[in-house]
Amino acid sequence: MNEKMNLTETRLILNKLGVIPNKSLGQNFLIDRNILIKMINEAEISKEETVLEIGAGLGALTTELEKKAKKVYAYEIDKILYQYLKDKFSISTNVEIINADALKSNIPPHDKIVSNIPYTITGPILENFFYNSGENSPVGIMIIENSLSKRISDIKKYKNFSRIGVTFNAFMDLINKYQISRNCFYPIPGIDLALIKIKPKTTLNSFLKEPMKRKFFIEFIAGITPYKNKTFSNSLKLFIKNKPSLALTKQDIIKFFKSNSISDEKVFHKEIDELIATCELLFEYTN
Ligand code: SAH
Repeated sequence: MNEKMNLTETRLILNKLGVIPNKSLGQNFLIDRNILIKMINEAEISKEETVLEIGAGLGALTTELEKKAKKVYAYEIDKILYQYLKDKFSISTNVEIINADALKSNIPPHDKIVSNIPYTITGPILENFFYNSGENSPVGIMIIENSLSKRISDIKKYKNFSRIGVTFNAFMDLINKYQISRNCFYPIPGIDLALIKIKPKTTLNSFLKEPMKRKFFIEFIAGITPYKNKTFSNSLKLFIKNKPSLALTKQDIIKFFKSNSISDEKVFHKEIDELIATCELLFEYTN
């Protein structure tokens, strides 16, 4: 594709393949070479590194990754695009094209995820590939919805204090963020995008180092952030009430609040470490 990757060529290939871009699969193809180069530069891939690409599409990014990485695992769910990629990279010695749902696959170990991911599954991708890997999380260079990139960037802002914002910042650091015009894609998506570079936290809170506890924390944050404007204790009571599997009686709840001092600040004023600490208390209490 090289320098010629542009709108005309992308449309031509899609036409030839008979592919009508599928919205629910987040099929918006990158047609701007400058963004592609920016992604590759941000990724700082060394010859020792293995890269995962989720949703390779027509392989524009894959072609660049192939030049830089030791190994590239490129997942593509669409059968026709997969077949196209398979042919395109048939003689490649380091690119492996895999026709599967990246969210449901057993993915080989990798150092970095470099992808213009399907925007429809950003949340699950963050959870599966970054939070669930704990300390072994890869570095990520990805294009996501601009509104999401804002929510992970400054959770001190009331607007950004959200499930995705808090969870992201418990596990990851946002290193860089650049807004990208929607005109850099075909078809033009209904949203603006952002290129983000993310890294696992250098020191992950010890509570989040265990899979079971991580899972509980992710549920905990999903359960209290909808009540960010309530007091912390009320949001906790609502979380407990909405999660019958905790199996806490009214008495248990009273006892939990009595034996632990839970401040009555509003949820959105809480620091992440305080949220983790209370989550840990509740985990210990219920396990
Ligand atoms: N990276 C390409 C394509 C981006 S569009 C480019 O920048 O041009 C997103 C791609 O992800 C589409 O090709 C779509 O078919 C694919 N896709 C969507 N859901 C997927 C999933 N669950 N697993 C793997 N690929 C997926």
